[in-house]
Amino acid sequence: MQTRRNFLALTASASLSLTLPRFAFNQAKSRTRVILLGTKGGPTLSSNSGRNNSATLILINDVPYLIDCGYGVSRQLISAGVALNRLRYIFITHHHSDHNLEYGPLLYNAWVTSNPIKIDAYGPTGLQKLTRDFFEYEKFDIETRIVDEGATDLRKLVAVHEFDRPGVVMQNDDVKVTSFRVRHPPITQSFAYRFDAKDVSVVISGDTADFPPLADFAKGADVLIHEAMYLPAIEKLIKQEGGKQRLRQHLMAAHTATEDVGRIAAQAGVKTLGLSHLVPGDDRSITDEQWSEGARKYFKGRIIVGKDLMEI
Ligand SMILES: [Zn+2]
Ligand SMILES: [Zn+2]
Repeated sequence: MQTRRNFLALTASASLSLTLPRFAFNQAKSRTRVILLGTKGGPTLSSNSGRNNSATLILINDVPYLIDCGYGVSRQLISAGVALNRLRYIFITHHHSDHNLEYGPLLYNAWVTSNPIKIDAYGPTGLQKLTRDFFEYEKFDIETRIVDEGATDLRKLVAVHEFDRPGVVMQNDDVKVTSFRVRHPPITQSFAYRFDAKDVSVVISGDTADFPPLADFAKGADVLIHEAMYLPAIEKLIKQEGGKQRLRQHLMAAHTATEDVGRIAAQAGVKTLGLSHLVPGDDRSITDEQWSEGARKYFKGRIIVGKDLMEI
Protein backbone atom coordinates (compact mmCIF):
# COMPACT_ATOMS: atom_id res chain seq x y z
CA MET A 1 0.00 0.00 0.00
CA GLN A 2 2.83 2.32 1.00
CA THR A 3 4.68 1.52 -2.22
CA ARG A 4 1.61 2.03 -4.33
CA ARG A 5 0.97 5.42 -2.70
CA ASN A 6 4.58 6.46 -3.36
CA PHE A 7 4.26 5.30 -6.93
CA LEU A 8 1.08 7.33 -7.40
CA ALA A 9 2.73 10.38 -5.88
CA LEU A 10 5.73 9.95 -8.16
CA THR A 11 3.53 9.59 -11.22
CA ALA A 12 1.54 12.65 -10.24
CA SER A 13 4.62 14.81 -9.72
CA ALA A 14 6.24 13.55 -12.92
CA SER A 15 3.20 14.41 -15.01
CA LEU A 16 2.86 17.74 -13.17
CA SER A 17 6.38 18.82 -14.01
CA LEU A 18 5.77 17.86 -17.63
CA THR A 19 2.55 19.81 -17.93
CA LEU A 20 3.33 22.91 -15.84
CA PRO A 21 4.09 25.91 -18.00
CA ARG A 22 7.59 27.30 -17.59
CA PHE A 23 6.54 30.46 -15.74
CA ALA A 24 4.61 28.48 -13.15
CA PHE A 25 7.64 26.26 -12.60
CA ASN A 26 9.86 29.31 -12.13
CA GLN A 27 7.36 30.85 -9.76
CA ALA A 28 7.27 27.67 -7.70
CA LYS A 29 11.04 27.73 -7.46
CA SER A 30 11.20 31.41 -6.59
CA ARG A 31 11.19 32.00 -2.85
CA THR A 32 11.02 35.77 -2.87
CA ARG A 33 7.85 37.71 -3.66
CA VAL A 34 7.33 41.48 -3.84
CA ILE A 35 3.83 42.84 -3.20
CA LEU A 36 2.89 46.51 -3.30
CA LEU A 37 0.58 47.30 -0.39
CA GLY A 38 0.24 51.07 -0.75
CA THR A 39 1.25 52.93 -3.91
CA LYS A 40 0.16 56.49 -3.21
CA GLY A 41 2.64 59.22 -2.29
CA GLY A 42 1.77 61.81 0.33
CA PRO A 43 -0.24 61.83 3.56
CA THR A 44 -3.74 62.69 2.31
CA LEU A 45 -6.47 60.07 2.21
CA SER A 46 -8.54 59.80 -0.89
CA SER A 47 -11.92 58.21 -1.29
CA ASN A 48 -11.58 57.22 -4.90
CA SER A 49 -7.93 56.67 -5.73
CA GLY A 50 -7.85 52.98 -4.92
CA ARG A 51 -4.38 53.59 -3.53
CA ASN A 52 -3.29 53.36 0.08
CA ASN A 53 -0.41 55.26 1.64
CA SER A 54 3.09 53.94 1.26
CA ALA A 55 3.96 50.34 2.14
CA THR A 56 5.74 47.51 0.34
CA LEU A 57 5.95 43.85 1.31
CA ILE A 58 8.74 41.41 0.48
CA LEU A 59 8.12 37.77 1.36
CA ILE A 60 11.31 35.74 1.60
CA ASN A 61 10.75 32.06 2.31
CA ASP A 62 7.28 33.14 3.38
CA VAL A 63 8.63 35.50 6.07
CA PRO A 64 7.30 39.06 5.68
CA TYR A 65 9.67 42.00 5.44
CA LEU A 66 7.60 45.18 5.48
CA ILE A 67 8.98 48.44 4.17
CA ASP A 68 7.12 51.49 5.50
CA CYS A 69 3.86 51.72 7.40
CA GLY A 70 1.60 54.26 5.72
CA TYR A 71 -1.98 54.56 6.96
CA GLY A 72 -3.92 51.41 6.05
CA VAL A 73 -0.95 49.03 6.20
CA SER A 74 -2.52 46.60 8.71
CA ARG A 75 -5.55 46.03 6.48
CA GLN A 76 -3.39 45.82 3.38
CA LEU A 77 -1.20 43.12 4.94
CA ILE A 78 -4.29 41.09 5.75
CA SER A 79 -5.60 41.63 2.21
CA ALA A 80 -2.27 40.37 0.88
CA GLY A 81 -2.78 37.18 2.88
CA VAL A 82 -0.33 37.94 5.67
CA ALA A 83 -1.89 37.34 9.09
CA LEU A 84 -0.66 39.97 11.52
CA ASN A 85 0.76 37.39 13.92
CA ARG A 86 3.32 36.65 11.18
CA LEU A 87 4.67 40.21 11.25
CA ARG A 88 8.41 39.83 11.88
CA TYR A 89 10.52 42.60 10.27
CA ILE A 90 9.68 46.27 9.71
CA PHE A 91 11.87 48.80 7.89
CA ILE A 92 11.07 52.52 7.90
CA THR A 93 12.67 54.62 5.13
CA HIS A 94 12.16 58.03 6.80
CA HIS A 95 9.88 59.78 9.22
CA HIS A 96 7.34 61.46 6.96
CA SER A 97 3.93 60.35 8.15
CA ASP A 98 2.93 58.73 4.86
CA HIS A 99 5.64 56.18 5.75
CA ASN A 100 5.18 55.74 9.49
CA LEU A 101 1.68 56.85 10.55
CA GLU A 102 0.47 53.29 11.12
CA TYR A 103 3.78 51.96 12.50
CA GLY A 104 2.60 52.00 16.13
CA PRO A 105 -0.95 50.81 15.39
CA LEU A 106 0.49 47.95 13.30
CA LEU A 107 2.64 46.81 16.24
CA TYR A 108 -0.48 46.99 18.35
CA ASN A 109 -2.60 45.07 15.82
CA ALA A 110 0.05 42.32 15.68
CA TRP A 111 0.16 42.19 19.49
CA VAL A 112 -3.57 41.59 19.94
CA THR A 113 -3.54 38.56 17.64
CA SER A 114 -3.61 35.18 19.34
CA ASN A 115 0.06 34.35 18.85
CA PRO A 116 2.18 37.46 18.42
CA ILE A 117 5.85 36.91 17.63
CA LYS A 118 8.94 39.03 18.21
CA ILE A 119 9.15 42.02 15.88
CA ASP A 120 12.39 43.68 14.82
CA ALA A 121 11.96 47.25 13.58
CA TYR A 122 14.70 49.10 11.71
CA GLY A 123 14.85 52.73 10.72
CA PRO A 124 16.61 56.06 11.00
CA THR A 125 17.07 58.11 14.16
CA GLY A 126 13.71 58.86 15.72
CA LEU A 127 12.36 55.32 15.54
CA GLN A 128 13.09 54.65 19.22
CA LYS A 129 11.17 57.75 20.25
CA LEU A 130 8.32 57.01 17.84
CA THR A 131 8.00 53.53 19.35
CA ARG A 132 8.21 54.74 22.96
CA ASP A 133 5.74 57.54 22.30
CA PHE A 134 3.23 55.12 20.78
CA PHE A 135 3.52 52.82 23.79
CA GLU A 136 2.89 55.89 25.94
CA TYR A 137 -0.12 56.85 23.79
CA GLU A 138 -1.67 53.41 24.36
CA LYS A 139 -0.24 52.87 27.86
CA PHE A 140 -3.61 52.60 29.54
CA ASP A 141 -4.84 49.89 27.18
CA ILE A 142 -1.56 47.97 27.10
CA GLU A 143 -1.31 47.83 30.88
CA THR A 144 -4.98 47.01 31.30
CA ARG A 145 -4.71 44.03 28.96
CA ILE A 146 -1.54 42.74 30.65
CA VAL A 147 -3.33 42.69 34.02
CA ASP A 148 -6.84 41.88 32.89
CA GLU A 149 -6.17 39.40 30.08
CA GLY A 150 -2.72 38.09 30.94
CA ALA A 151 -1.29 39.48 27.72
CA THR A 152 2.45 39.52 27.19
CA ASP A 153 3.95 43.00 27.35
CA LEU A 154 3.90 44.58 23.89
CA ARG A 155 6.85 46.74 24.91
CA LYS A 156 8.98 43.61 25.32
CA LEU A 157 7.87 42.14 22.01
CA VAL A 158 9.43 44.84 19.85
CA ALA A 159 13.18 45.35 19.33
CA VAL A 160 14.03 48.68 17.73
CA HIS A 161 17.23 49.06 15.74
CA GLU A 162 17.95 52.69 14.94
CA PHE A 163 20.69 53.88 12.61
CA ASP A 164 22.00 57.24 11.42
CA ARG A 165 24.28 56.17 8.58
CA PRO A 166 24.07 53.85 5.60
CA GLY A 167 25.33 50.28 5.66
CA VAL A 168 24.24 46.74 6.48
CA VAL A 169 21.03 46.95 8.48
CA MET A 170 20.48 43.27 9.18
CA GLN A 171 21.44 39.88 7.87
CA ASN A 172 20.14 36.36 8.39
CA ASP A 173 20.34 33.06 6.49
CA ASP A 174 17.85 34.28 3.88
CA VAL A 175 18.72 37.88 3.18
CA LYS A 176 21.14 40.75 3.62
CA VAL A 177 19.52 44.17 3.98
CA THR A 178 21.55 47.29 3.25
CA SER A 179 20.53 50.93 3.56
CA PHE A 180 21.64 53.88 1.45
CA ARG A 181 21.08 57.54 2.18
CA VAL A 182 19.06 59.31 -0.52
CA ARG A 183 18.27 63.00 -1.08
CA HIS A 184 14.89 64.04 0.36
CA PRO A 185 15.16 67.59 1.73
CA PRO A 186 14.56 68.89 4.28
CA ILE A 187 14.85 65.41 5.80
CA THR A 188 18.50 64.41 6.03
CA GLN A 189 17.90 60.84 7.15
CA SER A 190 15.96 59.29 4.30
CA PHE A 191 17.10 55.84 3.21
CA ALA A 192 16.69 53.39 0.36
CA TYR A 193 16.91 49.68 1.17
CA ARG A 194 18.42 46.83 -0.80
CA PHE A 195 17.35 43.25 -0.07
CA ASP A 196 19.78 40.67 -1.41
CA ALA A 197 18.03 37.32 -1.06
CA LYS A 198 19.45 34.09 -2.48
CA ASP A 199 17.25 34.18 -5.57
CA VAL A 200 16.72 37.89 -6.26
CA SER A 201 17.79 41.38 -5.25
CA VAL A 202 15.18 44.05 -4.64
CA VAL A 203 15.78 47.77 -4.09
CA ILE A 204 13.22 50.16 -2.61
CA SER A 205 14.08 53.82 -3.26
CA GLY A 206 12.06 55.31 -0.42
CA ASP A 207 11.39 59.01 -0.98
CA THR A 208 14.10 60.71 -2.97
CA ALA A 209 14.80 63.49 -5.40
CA ASP A 210 16.52 62.48 -8.61
CA PHE A 211 19.69 61.01 -7.12
CA PRO A 212 22.08 59.33 -9.60
CA PRO A 213 24.20 57.63 -6.88
CA LEU A 214 21.12 55.49 -6.19
CA ALA A 215 21.81 53.77 -9.52
CA ASP A 216 25.10 52.42 -8.16
CA PHE A 217 23.36 51.20 -5.02
CA ALA A 218 20.75 49.44 -7.18
CA LYS A 219 23.34 48.08 -9.65
CA GLY A 220 22.33 44.72 -11.07
CA ALA A 221 19.23 44.34 -8.89
CA ASP A 222 16.37 42.32 -10.34
CA VAL A 223 13.70 44.74 -9.16
CA LEU A 224 13.84 48.46 -8.40
CA ILE A 225 10.75 49.96 -6.78
CA HIS A 226 11.17 53.70 -7.27
CA GLU A 227 9.00 56.61 -6.26
CA ALA A 228 7.57 58.55 -9.21
CA MET A 229 6.06 61.95 -9.88
CA TYR A 230 4.08 62.74 -13.04
CA LEU A 231 5.03 66.32 -13.84
CA PRO A 232 2.18 67.23 -16.25
CA ALA A 233 -0.34 66.63 -13.45
CA ILE A 234 1.51 68.52 -10.73
CA GLU A 235 0.07 71.93 -11.63
CA LYS A 236 -3.46 70.55 -11.31
CA LEU A 237 -2.55 69.05 -7.94
CA ILE A 238 -1.14 72.35 -6.70
CA LYS A 239 -4.31 74.14 -7.79
CA GLN A 240 -6.39 71.57 -5.84
CA GLU A 241 -4.25 72.24 -2.78
CA GLY A 242 -5.00 75.96 -2.97
CA GLY A 243 -2.05 77.00 -5.13
CA LYS A 244 0.58 76.47 -2.45
CA GLN A 245 3.94 77.48 -3.94
CA ARG A 246 5.70 75.81 -1.04
CA LEU A 247 4.18 72.49 -2.07
CA ARG A 248 5.54 72.91 -5.61
CA GLN A 249 8.99 73.72 -4.21
CA HIS A 250 8.88 70.66 -1.92
CA LEU A 251 7.79 68.31 -4.71
CA MET A 252 10.46 69.53 -7.13
CA ALA A 253 13.25 69.44 -4.54
CA ALA A 254 12.38 66.17 -2.86
CA HIS A 255 10.81 63.80 -5.42
CA THR A 256 11.67 62.26 -8.80
CA ALA A 257 9.99 62.83 -12.16
CA THR A 258 9.21 59.70 -14.18
CA GLU A 259 11.86 60.56 -16.83
CA ASP A 260 14.57 60.67 -14.17
CA VAL A 261 13.32 57.41 -12.65
CA GLY A 262 13.87 55.83 -16.10
CA ARG A 263 17.43 57.17 -16.22
CA ILE A 264 18.24 55.74 -12.78
CA ALA A 265 16.76 52.33 -13.68
CA ALA A 266 18.69 52.23 -16.98
CA GLN A 267 21.93 53.22 -15.29
CA ALA A 268 21.39 50.60 -12.58
CA GLY A 269 20.70 47.93 -15.21
CA VAL A 270 17.78 46.44 -13.29
CA LYS A 271 15.44 43.97 -14.98
CA THR A 272 12.17 45.32 -13.63
CA LEU A 273 11.22 48.86 -12.63
CA GLY A 274 8.17 49.24 -10.41
CA LEU A 275 6.72 52.74 -10.08
CA SER A 276 5.22 53.35 -6.66
CA HIS A 277 4.67 56.22 -4.21
CA LEU A 278 2.89 57.86 -7.13
CA VAL A 279 2.43 61.65 -6.99
CA PRO A 280 -0.29 62.61 -7.64
CA GLY A 281 -1.51 59.17 -6.57
CA ASP A 282 -5.21 59.96 -6.52
CA ASP A 283 -5.60 61.40 -10.01
CA ARG A 284 -7.34 58.61 -11.86
CA SER A 285 -7.16 60.48 -15.16
CA ILE A 286 -3.45 59.59 -15.46
CA THR A 287 -3.21 56.37 -17.48
CA ASP A 288 -0.63 53.62 -16.98
CA GLU A 289 0.80 54.62 -20.35
CA GLN A 290 1.28 58.18 -19.10
CA TRP A 291 2.89 56.97 -15.89
CA SER A 292 5.38 54.83 -17.78
CA GLU A 293 6.12 56.85 -20.95
CA GLY A 294 8.67 59.13 -19.27
CA ALA A 295 10.67 56.23 -17.85
CA ARG A 296 10.32 54.29 -21.11
CA LYS A 297 12.38 56.95 -22.93
CA TYR A 298 15.46 55.77 -21.05
CA PHE A 299 14.70 52.36 -19.59
CA LYS A 300 14.11 49.42 -21.93
CA GLY A 301 13.35 46.75 -19.33
CA ARG A 302 10.01 45.80 -17.81
CA ILE A 303 8.04 48.70 -16.29
CA ILE A 304 5.23 48.10 -13.83
CA VAL A 305 2.90 50.93 -12.84
CA GLY A 306 2.22 50.10 -9.22
CA LYS A 307 -1.25 49.30 -7.97
CA ASP A 308 -2.21 48.23 -4.48
CA LEU A 309 -1.87 44.49 -3.81
CA MET A 310 -0.09 43.96 -7.12
CA GLU A 311 2.63 41.32 -7.03
CA ILE A 312 5.75 42.16 -9.03
ZN1 LIG B 1 6.31 59.92 1.00
ZN1 LIG C 1 8.90 61.79 2.34
